[in-house]
Amino acid sequence: MTESNSSFWAASRLAAVRPSFIREILKVTEDPSVISFAGGLPNPDLFPLEALGEATAKVLKDEGTQALQYSTTEGYLPLREWIAARYAGRGVEVSPDQILITTGSQQGLDLIGKCFVDGGEPVLLERPGYLGAIQAFALMEPRFCTVPLAKDGPELEPLRQVLAEDEPTVFYAVPNFQNPSGVCWSGAKRAAAVEMLEKSKTLFVEDDPYGELRFAGVSHPPVSSGLEPNRRILLGSFSKVASPGLRVGWLVAGPQLRRHLVTAKQAADLHTSTFNQRILARYLADNDLDAHIATIRDAYGRHAAVMIRTMEEHFPDEVDFTKPEGGMFLWVTLPEGCSAMALFEKAIEAKVAFVPGAPFYVDGSGDNTLRVNFSNANEMMIEEGIRRLADCLKSYLAI
Ligand code: PMP
Repeated sequence: MTESNSSFWAASRLAAVRPSFIREILKVTEDPSVISFAGGLPNPDLFPLEALGEATAKVLKDEGTQALQYSTTEGYLPLREWIAARYAGRGVEVSPDQILITTGSQQGLDLIGKCFVDGGEPVLLERPGYLGAIQAFALMEPRFCTVPLAKDGPELEPLRQVLAEDEPTVFYAVPNFQNPSGVCWSGAKRAAAVEMLEKSKTLFVEDDPYGELRFAGVSHPPVSSGLEPNRRILLGSFSKVASPGLRVGWLVAGPQLRRHLVTAKQAADLHTSTFNQRILARYLADNDLDAHIATIRDAYGRHAAVMIRTMEEHFPDEVDFTKPEGGMFLWVTLPEGCSAMALFEKAIEAKVAFVPGAPFYVDGSGDNTLRVNFSNANEMMIEEGIRRLADCLKSYLAI
Protein backbone atom coordinates (compact mmCIF):
# COMPACT_ATOMS: atom_id res chain seq x y z
CA MET A 1 0.00 0.00 0.00
CA THR A 2 1.10 3.54 -0.62
CA GLU A 3 -0.05 6.87 0.75
CA SER A 4 -1.05 8.81 -2.37
CA ASN A 5 -2.36 11.76 -0.34
CA SER A 6 -3.09 12.44 3.29
CA SER A 7 -6.64 11.06 3.34
CA PHE A 8 -6.51 8.20 0.84
CA TRP A 9 -4.59 4.94 0.57
CA ALA A 10 -4.11 2.96 -2.64
CA ALA A 11 -2.15 -0.10 -3.73
CA SER A 12 1.35 0.78 -4.93
CA ARG A 13 0.65 -0.59 -8.43
CA LEU A 14 -1.59 2.44 -9.05
CA ALA A 15 1.45 4.71 -8.90
CA ALA A 16 2.44 3.39 -12.35
CA VAL A 17 -0.89 4.30 -13.97
CA ARG A 18 -1.72 7.81 -15.02
CA PRO A 19 -5.41 8.75 -15.30
CA SER A 20 -6.36 8.90 -18.97
CA PHE A 21 -5.33 12.31 -20.30
CA ILE A 22 -7.93 11.96 -23.05
CA ARG A 23 -10.71 11.71 -20.49
CA GLU A 24 -9.38 14.94 -18.93
CA ILE A 25 -9.35 16.66 -22.33
CA LEU A 26 -12.92 15.58 -23.02
CA LYS A 27 -14.00 17.78 -20.12
CA VAL A 28 -12.50 20.86 -21.86
CA THR A 29 -14.21 19.95 -25.11
CA GLU A 30 -17.70 19.68 -23.63
CA ASP A 31 -18.18 23.36 -24.65
CA PRO A 32 -20.43 23.01 -27.76
CA SER A 33 -18.63 25.85 -29.58
CA VAL A 34 -15.41 23.76 -29.61
CA ILE A 35 -14.93 21.56 -32.70
CA SER A 36 -13.45 18.46 -31.14
CA PHE A 37 -11.22 15.97 -32.89
CA ALA A 38 -10.11 14.78 -29.45
CA GLY A 39 -12.44 11.91 -28.57
CA GLY A 40 -12.32 8.45 -30.10
CA LEU A 41 -16.06 8.26 -30.55
CA PRO A 42 -17.81 6.40 -33.35
CA ASN A 43 -20.34 8.63 -35.12
CA PRO A 44 -23.63 8.40 -33.15
CA ASP A 45 -25.72 9.22 -36.26
CA LEU A 46 -24.66 5.79 -37.54
CA PHE A 47 -25.80 3.75 -34.55
CA PRO A 48 -28.42 1.18 -35.66
CA LEU A 49 -30.96 2.67 -33.28
CA GLU A 50 -34.15 1.32 -34.76
CA ALA A 51 -32.83 -2.19 -35.44
CA LEU A 52 -31.37 -2.47 -31.94
CA GLY A 53 -34.69 -1.26 -30.53
CA GLU A 54 -36.51 -4.01 -32.42
CA ALA A 55 -33.96 -6.63 -31.34
CA THR A 56 -34.32 -5.53 -27.70
CA ALA A 57 -38.12 -5.81 -27.80
CA LYS A 58 -37.91 -9.27 -29.39
CA VAL A 59 -35.38 -10.52 -26.85
CA LEU A 60 -37.56 -9.38 -23.96
CA LYS A 61 -40.67 -10.90 -25.50
CA ASP A 62 -39.24 -14.24 -26.72
CA GLU A 63 -36.38 -15.01 -24.32
CA GLY A 64 -36.87 -12.49 -21.52
CA THR A 65 -36.25 -14.71 -18.52
CA GLN A 66 -33.02 -16.19 -19.95
CA ALA A 67 -31.88 -12.74 -21.10
CA LEU A 68 -32.25 -11.32 -17.60
CA GLN A 69 -30.59 -14.33 -15.90
CA TYR A 70 -26.92 -15.04 -15.06
CA SER A 71 -25.14 -16.97 -17.84
CA THR A 72 -21.85 -18.70 -18.66
CA THR A 73 -18.51 -16.91 -18.48
CA GLU A 74 -17.49 -18.02 -22.00
CA GLY A 75 -20.41 -16.11 -23.55
CA TYR A 76 -23.66 -16.76 -25.42
CA LEU A 77 -23.03 -19.64 -27.84
CA PRO A 78 -25.05 -18.30 -30.83
CA LEU A 79 -23.03 -15.07 -30.62
CA ARG A 80 -19.75 -17.02 -30.53
CA GLU A 81 -20.96 -19.10 -33.48
CA TRP A 82 -21.79 -15.93 -35.42
CA ILE A 83 -18.27 -14.55 -34.76
CA ALA A 84 -16.62 -17.85 -35.79
CA ALA A 85 -18.70 -17.92 -39.01
CA ARG A 86 -17.65 -14.36 -39.80
CA TYR A 87 -13.96 -15.28 -39.46
CA ALA A 88 -14.61 -18.32 -41.68
CA GLY A 89 -16.03 -15.94 -44.32
CA ARG A 90 -12.64 -14.17 -44.30
CA GLY A 91 -10.79 -17.49 -44.60
CA VAL A 92 -9.71 -17.49 -40.94
CA GLU A 93 -10.35 -20.74 -39.09
CA VAL A 94 -11.68 -20.08 -35.57
CA SER A 95 -13.95 -22.40 -33.55
CA PRO A 96 -16.61 -21.04 -31.14
CA ASP A 97 -14.79 -22.69 -28.22
CA GLN A 98 -11.68 -20.58 -28.91
CA ILE A 99 -13.81 -17.45 -28.40
CA LEU A 100 -14.42 -15.71 -25.07
CA ILE A 101 -16.99 -12.90 -25.06
CA THR A 102 -15.62 -9.91 -23.12
CA THR A 103 -17.09 -6.70 -21.75
CA GLY A 104 -15.59 -4.65 -24.59
CA SER A 105 -12.17 -5.56 -25.92
CA GLN A 106 -10.79 -3.31 -23.19
CA GLN A 107 -11.67 -6.07 -20.73
CA GLY A 108 -9.70 -8.49 -22.92
CA LEU A 109 -6.62 -6.31 -22.39
CA ASP A 110 -7.16 -6.24 -18.64
CA LEU A 111 -7.55 -10.04 -18.49
CA ILE A 112 -4.47 -10.62 -20.65
CA GLY A 113 -2.42 -8.41 -18.33
CA LYS A 114 -3.67 -10.27 -15.26
CA CYS A 115 -3.11 -13.73 -16.76
CA PHE A 116 0.16 -13.39 -18.62
CA VAL A 117 2.18 -10.43 -17.30
CA ASP A 118 4.11 -10.60 -14.04
CA GLY A 119 5.58 -7.48 -12.40
CA GLY A 120 8.87 -6.40 -13.95
CA GLU A 121 8.45 -8.51 -17.09
CA PRO A 122 9.05 -6.90 -20.48
CA VAL A 123 5.92 -5.98 -22.47
CA LEU A 124 6.49 -4.79 -26.04
CA LEU A 125 4.32 -2.00 -27.47
CA GLU A 126 4.24 -0.10 -30.72
CA ARG A 127 5.58 3.47 -30.42
CA PRO A 128 3.15 5.28 -30.28
CA GLY A 129 0.78 2.77 -28.65
CA TYR A 130 -2.88 2.50 -27.66
CA LEU A 131 -3.42 4.35 -24.37
CA GLY A 132 -6.03 1.90 -23.04
CA ALA A 133 -3.54 -0.96 -23.39
CA ILE A 134 -0.79 1.07 -21.74
CA GLN A 135 -3.16 1.67 -18.81
CA ALA A 136 -4.33 -1.96 -18.59
CA PHE A 137 -0.80 -3.40 -18.69
CA ALA A 138 0.70 -0.69 -16.44
CA LEU A 139 -1.43 -2.03 -13.57
CA MET A 140 0.67 -5.21 -13.76
CA GLU A 141 3.84 -3.08 -13.28
CA PRO A 142 5.74 -4.50 -16.28
CA ARG A 143 8.84 -3.05 -17.91
CA PHE A 144 7.66 -1.55 -21.19
CA CYS A 145 9.81 -1.76 -24.28
CA THR A 146 8.80 -0.32 -27.66
CA VAL A 147 9.26 -0.65 -31.39
CA PRO A 148 8.92 2.49 -33.56
CA LEU A 149 6.04 2.56 -36.04
CA ALA A 150 6.73 3.66 -39.60
CA LYS A 151 3.85 4.53 -41.95
CA ASP A 152 3.58 0.86 -43.04
CA GLY A 153 4.03 -0.84 -39.67
CA PRO A 154 6.79 -1.57 -37.15
CA GLU A 155 10.39 -0.92 -38.14
CA LEU A 156 11.73 -4.41 -38.71
CA GLU A 157 15.32 -4.20 -37.53
CA PRO A 158 14.37 -2.68 -34.12
CA LEU A 159 11.61 -5.33 -33.88
CA ARG A 160 14.08 -8.15 -34.53
CA GLN A 161 16.43 -6.66 -31.96
CA VAL A 162 13.89 -6.10 -29.19
CA LEU A 163 12.39 -9.60 -29.62
CA ALA A 164 15.85 -11.19 -29.43
CA GLU A 165 17.36 -9.03 -26.68
CA ASP A 166 14.44 -8.22 -24.34
CA GLU A 167 12.50 -11.46 -24.97
CA PRO A 168 9.17 -9.73 -24.17
CA THR A 169 6.46 -11.82 -22.51
CA VAL A 170 3.82 -10.10 -24.64
CA PHE A 171 3.90 -8.06 -27.86
CA TYR A 172 0.70 -5.98 -28.08
CA ALA A 173 -0.13 -4.41 -31.46
CA VAL A 174 -3.00 -2.88 -33.45
CA PRO A 175 -2.04 -3.77 -37.06
CA ASN A 176 -5.18 -2.27 -38.69
CA PHE A 177 -5.62 1.53 -38.54
CA GLN A 178 -4.01 1.83 -35.17
CA ASN A 179 -5.24 4.06 -32.41
CA PRO A 180 -3.60 6.61 -32.25
CA SER A 181 -1.67 6.72 -35.55
CA GLY A 182 -4.08 5.31 -38.18
CA VAL A 183 -1.16 3.17 -39.44
CA CYS A 184 -1.95 -0.17 -41.13
CA TRP A 185 0.81 -2.82 -41.35
CA SER A 186 1.73 -3.75 -44.93
CA GLY A 187 1.58 -7.37 -46.16
CA ALA A 188 5.38 -7.55 -46.21
CA LYS A 189 5.70 -6.32 -42.61
CA ARG A 190 3.02 -8.79 -41.46
CA ALA A 191 4.91 -11.69 -43.03
CA ALA A 192 8.22 -10.53 -41.55
CA ALA A 193 6.67 -10.10 -38.08
CA VAL A 194 5.15 -13.60 -38.19
CA GLU A 195 8.53 -15.05 -39.10
CA MET A 196 10.19 -13.27 -36.17
CA LEU A 197 7.41 -14.14 -33.71
CA GLU A 198 7.56 -17.83 -34.68
CA LYS A 199 11.20 -17.87 -33.60
CA SER A 200 10.50 -16.09 -30.29
CA LYS A 201 8.72 -17.13 -27.08
CA THR A 202 6.62 -13.95 -27.10
CA LEU A 203 2.81 -14.09 -26.89
CA PHE A 204 1.41 -11.94 -29.71
CA VAL A 205 -1.69 -9.94 -28.78
CA GLU A 206 -3.42 -8.53 -31.86
CA ASP A 207 -6.12 -5.95 -31.17
CA ASP A 208 -8.41 -5.43 -34.17
CA PRO A 209 -11.38 -3.14 -33.49
CA TYR A 210 -10.92 -1.22 -36.77
CA GLY A 211 -10.12 -3.88 -39.41
CA GLU A 212 -13.64 -3.82 -40.86
CA LEU A 213 -13.57 -0.03 -41.21
CA ARG A 214 -11.37 -0.03 -44.33
CA PHE A 215 -12.53 2.54 -46.87
CA ALA A 216 -9.59 2.26 -49.31
CA GLY A 217 -7.01 -0.35 -50.30
CA VAL A 218 -7.09 -4.11 -49.75
CA SER A 219 -7.69 -5.99 -46.47
CA HIS A 220 -5.13 -8.34 -44.94
CA PRO A 221 -5.82 -11.47 -42.88
CA PRO A 222 -5.01 -11.09 -39.17
CA VAL A 223 -1.27 -11.28 -38.44
CA SER A 224 -2.05 -13.81 -35.72
CA SER A 225 -3.69 -16.26 -38.15
CA GLY A 226 -0.13 -17.21 -39.15
CA LEU A 227 0.73 -18.19 -35.56
CA GLU A 228 0.03 -21.26 -33.43
CA PRO A 229 -3.26 -20.76 -31.42
CA ASN A 230 -1.55 -21.01 -28.01
CA ARG A 231 1.00 -18.34 -29.00
CA ARG A 232 -1.41 -15.57 -29.94
CA ILE A 233 -4.59 -13.80 -28.85
CA LEU A 234 -6.81 -11.89 -31.27
CA LEU A 235 -9.18 -9.27 -29.88
CA GLY A 236 -12.35 -8.02 -31.60
CA SER A 237 -15.21 -5.71 -30.73
CA PHE A 238 -18.73 -4.68 -31.71
CA SER A 239 -18.00 -1.14 -30.48
CA LYS A 240 -17.02 0.39 -33.83
CA VAL A 241 -19.38 -1.62 -36.08
CA ALA A 242 -22.55 -1.55 -33.94
CA SER A 243 -22.43 0.27 -30.59
CA PRO A 244 -19.75 0.89 -27.95
CA GLY A 245 -22.36 1.38 -25.22
CA LEU A 246 -23.37 -2.28 -25.38
CA ARG A 247 -19.84 -3.15 -24.16
CA VAL A 248 -19.53 -6.41 -26.07
CA GLY A 249 -16.22 -7.58 -27.50
CA TRP A 250 -14.40 -10.90 -27.76
CA LEU A 251 -11.05 -12.59 -27.82
CA VAL A 252 -9.81 -15.63 -29.73
CA ALA A 253 -7.24 -17.81 -27.97
CA GLY A 254 -5.98 -21.40 -27.98
CA PRO A 255 -7.24 -23.69 -25.17
CA GLN A 256 -4.15 -23.31 -22.97
CA LEU A 257 -4.54 -19.54 -22.93
CA ARG A 258 -8.31 -19.32 -22.91
CA ARG A 259 -8.84 -21.38 -19.76
CA HIS A 260 -6.77 -18.88 -17.75
CA LEU A 261 -8.65 -15.97 -19.29
CA VAL A 262 -11.99 -17.59 -18.40
CA THR A 263 -10.85 -17.95 -14.77
CA ALA A 264 -9.75 -14.30 -14.64
CA LYS A 265 -13.06 -13.21 -16.17
CA GLN A 266 -15.00 -15.20 -13.56
CA ALA A 267 -13.19 -13.13 -10.94
CA ALA A 268 -13.74 -9.87 -12.83
CA ASP A 269 -17.45 -9.90 -13.72
CA LEU A 270 -18.75 -13.53 -13.94
CA HIS A 271 -19.87 -12.86 -17.52
CA THR A 272 -20.62 -10.09 -19.99
CA SER A 273 -24.21 -8.77 -19.84
CA THR A 274 -26.49 -11.65 -20.91
CA PHE A 275 -29.07 -9.17 -22.08
CA ASN A 276 -26.68 -7.21 -24.30
CA GLN A 277 -25.20 -10.40 -25.81
CA ARG A 278 -28.65 -11.65 -26.74
CA ILE A 279 -29.69 -8.26 -28.14
CA LEU A 280 -26.61 -8.31 -30.38
CA ALA A 281 -27.18 -11.92 -31.44
CA ARG A 282 -30.80 -11.09 -32.35
CA TYR A 283 -29.73 -7.90 -34.17
CA LEU A 284 -27.09 -9.83 -36.16
CA ALA A 285 -29.56 -12.60 -37.07
CA ASP A 286 -32.23 -10.18 -38.31
CA ASN A 287 -30.07 -7.55 -40.05
CA ASP A 288 -27.31 -7.30 -42.64
CA LEU A 289 -24.25 -6.15 -40.70
CA ASP A 290 -22.20 -5.87 -43.90
CA ALA A 291 -24.66 -3.31 -45.29
CA HIS A 292 -24.47 -1.36 -42.02
CA ILE A 293 -20.65 -1.44 -42.02
CA ALA A 294 -20.63 -0.27 -45.66
CA THR A 295 -22.55 2.86 -44.55
CA ILE A 296 -20.03 3.51 -41.76
CA ARG A 297 -17.08 2.99 -44.14
CA ASP A 298 -18.53 5.37 -46.71
CA ALA A 299 -19.10 8.09 -44.13
CA TYR A 300 -15.65 7.74 -42.50
CA GLY A 301 -14.01 7.58 -45.93
CA ARG A 302 -15.64 10.91 -46.85
CA HIS A 303 -14.67 12.44 -43.50
CA ALA A 304 -11.04 11.32 -43.89
CA ALA A 305 -10.90 12.65 -47.47
CA VAL A 306 -12.15 16.10 -46.39
CA MET A 307 -9.68 16.17 -43.51
CA ILE A 308 -6.70 15.14 -45.66
CA ARG A 309 -7.63 17.58 -48.44
CA THR A 310 -8.02 20.49 -45.99
CA MET A 311 -4.70 19.62 -44.32
CA GLU A 312 -2.96 19.44 -47.71
CA GLU A 313 -4.34 22.85 -48.63
CA HIS A 314 -3.78 24.68 -45.36
CA PHE A 315 -1.13 23.00 -43.16
CA PRO A 316 2.41 24.41 -43.32
CA ASP A 317 4.73 22.18 -45.39
CA GLU A 318 6.91 21.19 -42.45
CA VAL A 319 3.95 19.50 -40.73
CA ASP A 320 3.61 15.79 -41.60
CA PHE A 321 0.48 13.65 -41.33
CA THR A 322 -0.66 10.08 -42.06
CA LYS A 323 -3.27 9.32 -44.74
CA PRO A 324 -5.21 6.42 -43.26
CA GLU A 325 -7.13 3.94 -45.43
CA GLY A 326 -9.56 3.10 -42.63
CA GLY A 327 -10.36 3.45 -38.94
CA MET A 328 -11.04 6.70 -37.12
CA PHE A 329 -7.71 8.48 -36.57
CA LEU A 330 -5.06 10.49 -38.33
CA TRP A 331 -1.64 11.27 -36.82
CA VAL A 332 0.16 14.59 -37.15
CA THR A 333 3.89 15.12 -36.59
CA LEU A 334 5.21 18.63 -35.99
CA PRO A 335 8.85 19.55 -36.62
CA GLU A 336 11.30 18.25 -33.99
CA GLY A 337 11.34 20.41 -30.84
CA CYS A 338 7.72 21.61 -31.21
CA SER A 339 5.21 20.97 -28.46
CA ALA A 340 1.71 19.68 -29.28
CA MET A 341 0.73 20.67 -25.72
CA ALA A 342 1.60 24.33 -26.43
CA LEU A 343 -0.33 24.06 -29.70
CA PHE A 344 -3.26 22.54 -27.79
CA GLU A 345 -3.52 25.66 -25.61
CA LYS A 346 -3.69 27.87 -28.70
CA ALA A 347 -6.17 25.49 -30.33
CA ILE A 348 -8.55 25.57 -27.36
CA GLU A 349 -8.56 29.39 -27.57
CA ALA A 350 -9.44 29.01 -31.27
CA LYS A 351 -12.15 26.50 -30.28
CA VAL A 352 -10.70 23.39 -31.85
CA ALA A 353 -9.37 20.35 -29.96
CA PHE A 354 -7.17 17.30 -30.56
CA VAL A 355 -5.16 14.96 -28.32
CA PRO A 356 -1.47 15.79 -27.81
CA GLY A 357 0.54 12.63 -28.58
CA ALA A 358 2.83 12.32 -25.52
CA PRO A 359 0.47 10.05 -23.47
CA PHE A 360 0.73 7.42 -26.25
CA TYR A 361 4.48 7.05 -25.55
CA VAL A 362 5.82 5.18 -22.53
CA ASP A 363 9.35 6.59 -22.92
CA GLY A 364 8.61 10.30 -22.44
CA SER A 365 8.94 11.15 -26.15
CA GLY A 366 6.26 12.18 -28.66
CA ASP A 367 5.91 15.84 -27.57
CA ASN A 368 5.75 16.91 -31.23
CA THR A 369 2.89 14.57 -32.19
CA LEU A 370 -0.91 14.72 -32.01
CA ARG A 371 -3.95 12.53 -32.71
CA VAL A 372 -6.91 13.78 -34.73
CA ASN A 373 -10.22 11.88 -34.90
CA PHE A 374 -12.33 12.06 -38.07
CA SER A 375 -15.29 9.79 -37.27
CA ASN A 376 -17.29 11.99 -34.97
CA ALA A 377 -17.56 15.49 -36.54
CA ASN A 378 -19.43 16.05 -39.83
CA GLU A 379 -17.67 17.14 -43.03
CA MET A 380 -18.46 20.86 -42.64
CA MET A 381 -17.15 20.86 -39.07
CA ILE A 382 -14.04 18.95 -40.17
CA GLU A 383 -13.22 21.54 -42.83
CA GLU A 384 -13.79 24.45 -40.44
CA GLY A 385 -11.91 22.76 -37.56
CA ILE A 386 -8.88 21.90 -39.68
CA ARG A 387 -8.75 25.48 -41.02
CA ARG A 388 -8.72 26.74 -37.43
CA LEU A 389 -6.00 24.23 -36.55
CA ALA A 390 -3.97 25.30 -39.61
CA ASP A 391 -4.15 28.94 -38.42
CA CYS A 392 -2.98 27.90 -34.94
CA LEU A 393 -0.10 25.92 -36.51
CA LYS A 394 0.99 28.88 -38.64
CA SER A 395 1.01 31.21 -35.68
CA TYR A 396 2.74 28.61 -33.42
CA LEU A 397 5.45 27.81 -35.98
CA ALA A 398 6.07 31.51 -36.63
CA ILE A 399 7.14 32.00 -32.99
N1 PMP B 1 -8.46 -1.29 -28.55
C1 PMP B 1 -8.30 -0.20 -29.30
C2 PMP B 1 -7.13 -0.10 -30.20
C3 PMP B 1 -9.24 0.85 -29.22
O1 PMP B 1 -9.05 1.96 -29.95
C4 PMP B 1 -10.35 0.73 -28.36
C5 PMP B 1 -11.39 1.81 -28.25
N2 PMP B 1 -10.90 3.07 -27.94
C6 PMP B 1 -10.46 -0.44 -27.59
C7 PMP B 1 -9.51 -1.44 -27.72
C8 PMP B 1 -11.58 -0.65 -26.61
O2 PMP B 1 -12.75 -0.93 -27.27
P1 PMP B 1 -14.01 -1.59 -26.58
O3 PMP B 1 -15.11 -0.58 -26.68
O4 PMP B 1 -14.28 -2.83 -27.37
O5 PMP B 1 -13.65 -1.90 -25.16
